[in-house]
Amino acid sequence: MLKIYNTLARKKEEFKSINPGKVGMYNCGPTVYDFAHIGNLKTYIATDVLRRYLEYSGYEVRQIMNITDVGHLTNDDTNQADTGEDKMMKGALREKKTPQEIAEFYTEKFFGDLERLNIEKAAYYPRATAHVAQMIKMTEALIEKGLAYEVNGNVFYSVEKFPQYGKLSGIKLDELKAGARLEEHPDKKHPYDFSLWLKAPKEHILKWESPWSLGYPGWHIECSAMSIEYLGETMDIHTGGEDHIFPHHENEIAQSEGYTGKEFARYWMHTRFLLVDGQKMSKSKGNFYALKDILAKGYDPMHFRLFAMSGLYRTQVSFSWTALDQAKTNLEKIANFERTLGEIAAGGKAAEAPQDEPVDFAYIYLKRFEEAMDDDLNTPLALSVLYELITETNKLIAAGKIGSAEAKVILSVWNKMNRVFGLVLTEGIGEVSQEAVAVAEERKAARIGKDFQKSDELRDKLGLLGYSIEDLPDNEYKLRKK
Ligand SMILES: [Zn+2]
Repeated sequence: MLKIYNTLARKKEEFKSINPGKVGMYNCGPTVYDFAHIGNLKTYIATDVLRRYLEYSGYEVRQIMNITDVGHLTNDDTNQADTGEDKMMKGALREKKTPQEIAEFYTEKFFGDLERLNIEKAAYYPRATAHVAQMIKMTEALIEKGLAYEVNGNVFYSVEKFPQYGKLSGIKLDELKAGARLEEHPDKKHPYDFSLWLKAPKEHILKWESPWSLGYPGWHIECSAMSIEYLGETMDIHTGGEDHIFPHHENEIAQSEGYTGKEFARYWMHTRFLLVDGQKMSKSKGNFYALKDILAKGYDPMHFRLFAMSGLYRTQVSFSWTALDQAKTNLEKIANFERTLGEIAAGGKAAEAPQDEPVDFAYIYLKRFEEAMDDDLNTPLALSVLYELITETNKLIAAGKIGSAEAKVILSVWNKMNRVFGLVLTEGIGEVSQEAVAVAEERKAARIGKDFQKSDELRDKLGLLGYSIEDLPDNEYKLRKK
């Protein structure tokens, strides 16, 4: 029986779906104004493992992930100031493109990352800009119910009118006033009131007609409107990063439950931030990585996927190149295990020294794997069970106890586990030498400098070292052992 840690209950709870055999799940998706960083991607890998394990456990999962392409202000994440720049506008100004072009470009990059990381596709990825009508309708209803108010073309949610405000994050409205350090919007009645609709300044490109002003929706309302649209009034699981608990998810609850009068989500799951070398990731510290930065160093996306699963999703994990190298070594071990068993299975020979009992020992490991996953998706424990299975199998192979039949049994158990781990073991998985990476980096520099003769020479050099190189967009590349 699957137990998951529910942020709302502040404890692990047995998972029970609303409809038997079916799960509705909503994941807060990216704001598409820049590349997703590896911390975001770790969260989406954790969500993918959850989805895969629910499917493994027999559920049919309807997964929805939004794409934020309007309304997310830079200050929205830290407080409720309803001030700050629009992230889409910020990206547009930085790259001298329109917000729509920025959204299209980074949405495509995001989907590329998901695919490389073998993250299963959601049923639907609704865009905020395509659902403004639903957000306006919801905002109108909230005003009608007395839960929201309009001032000067802006509409705010009145948190004091929703008695349960704070039930997810534990914040208390009266405590804030004492230690408030929020920049308050002049039109707000309470510092925690948050925008449902904002009047657009003249220079703002993305704006819509509404009953209140020519403007744009607040960030939080999009998730309420789109999840209700695609999953109904009550969903089973809502996920996000820990930074979403407050204010984003607290506000989603206030909006949705204020609107429907029903419970919004049964289970709230949050992943913790990823640190880099023990520190918070930031562009100014130079420890900010996107997936492309990892691939450029010759790693495979699966190295990162395995790294991400090596820590419990709700504990603090620190990324480092050493930790990624460890994942690389482990992935190699898994790939060798699969390859060796595949060869023995295909060989068709009986074991030299068969045991009296058939080798059903693999199923004991599968059971332990399931126990680990049932316990709030404990992937580090599940992986340690796999590594034990690999060690034991290698011992049995050395003792001549594994023939074709036994190898097939162990392989089928591994394949079951890997439906959840989602590791793609291509032939390219293996050691990429530092020398090869150095040549590939030199070739990248030559390509950026449009020195194609040198680039070709370096490709040949890589060939002699035993590598093939595939060129990817933006001068990225992928090295493979031949
Ligand atoms: Zn959201």
